[in-house]
Amino acid sequence: MEKVVIIGSGPAGWTAALYAARAQLGPLVLMGQQPGGLLTTTSIVENFPGFPEGVDGYELMTRMQKQAERFGAKTSFGVVDSVDFTQRPFTLVVDGEPVTAQTVIIATGASHKHLGVPGEHELENKGTTYCATCDGALPMFRNQPLVVVGGGDSACEEALYLTRFGSEVFLIHRRDRLRASKIMAERTLAHPKIKPVWDSTVTEVLDLQQGKVTGVKLKNVQSGAVTLLPCAGVFIAVGHVPNTGIFQGRITTDENGFIVPQAGTMTNVPGVFVAGDCSDHVYRQAITAAGAGCAAAIDAERFLAAQPV
Ligand code: NAP
Repeated sequence: MEKVVIIGSGPAGWTAALYAARAQLGPLVLMGQQPGGLLTTTSIVENFPGFPEGVDGYELMTRMQKQAERFGAKTSFGVVDSVDFTQRPFTLVVDGEPVTAQTVIIATGASHKHLGVPGEHELENKGTTYCATCDGALPMFRNQPLVVVGGGDSACEEALYLTRFGSEVFLIHRRDRLRASKIMAERTLAHPKIKPVWDSTVTEVLDLQQGKVTGVKLKNVQSGAVTLLPCAGVFIAVGHVPNTGIFQGRITTDENGFIVPQAGTMTNVPGVFVAGDCSDHVYRQAITAAGAGCAAAIDAERFLAAQPV
């Protein structure tokens, strides 16, 4: 039986693993479908303290993993199918096999939100994408007009990155002001290749008949005017949804699925803790996720120490 099982391998998961390992609890990290989490799809992380020149997202996560493993964290590529939190020890079914644990730290993060418009899903990998760093350099996007949807830091980051490849980058935002941090918004709007399209939503991704993205249908939310914008790629960066589906009905969440801790990082189930983007819809930074991972490991350690031998 494991003392601590950590579900997820983003900054929250690896920091929890580092602290639990140094507390000699030999944590098992189940890395999930996206080892390293969403940060591995980021190019350069400029706001993680300790890296004055910035650090590649993939490298940062690899370093965190190595640091946790150095102190005895165990890692597995397992994906959790289901959980039974009704009694302790808890049981997790991982790739069909049961794993028992005295405590669990949920650090499952979040996934890209979709627009839900016609053509979006059908043209995925044919011009629709959720990750500029992963797909931006593909030949089909070179020297072509590209579209980024969203007005947050992610959308700005994607748009800036895509200026290396596209002929021009249209930033489609449903309001007339970016949500992004000031530094990112200013950098984005100052770029000569980036053209903001305000007060507009994408209502359809074209063209299903050609089997690839050739443009988007836009609707101006103020005037109602519908226009067609030709492009070779649509990069969607409209936020995230928490990866908490397997905990529904077992762990208390808010109406959007974010886990709501009850005391410190402890959930409604004593012995189950939570950290990172799956419970945070406010800050959502690598450093806040890492801090929460640290807190969850300390809470788990104290919980275990308080149990009768
Ligand atoms: P976000 O801040 O939630 O922004 C999502 C954007 O998408 C908003 O502008 C929102 O519009 C728009 N949007 C949401 N649903 C939409 C829909 N159905 N149709 C059209 N537009 C829609 O998400 P994010 O940009 O992914 O950032 C998440 C967190 O990570 C933030 O805390 C951010 O600071 C952080 N982050 C930081 C960096 C960095 O510092 N370099 C980089 C990436 C992310 P409204 O503005 O109208 O709501």
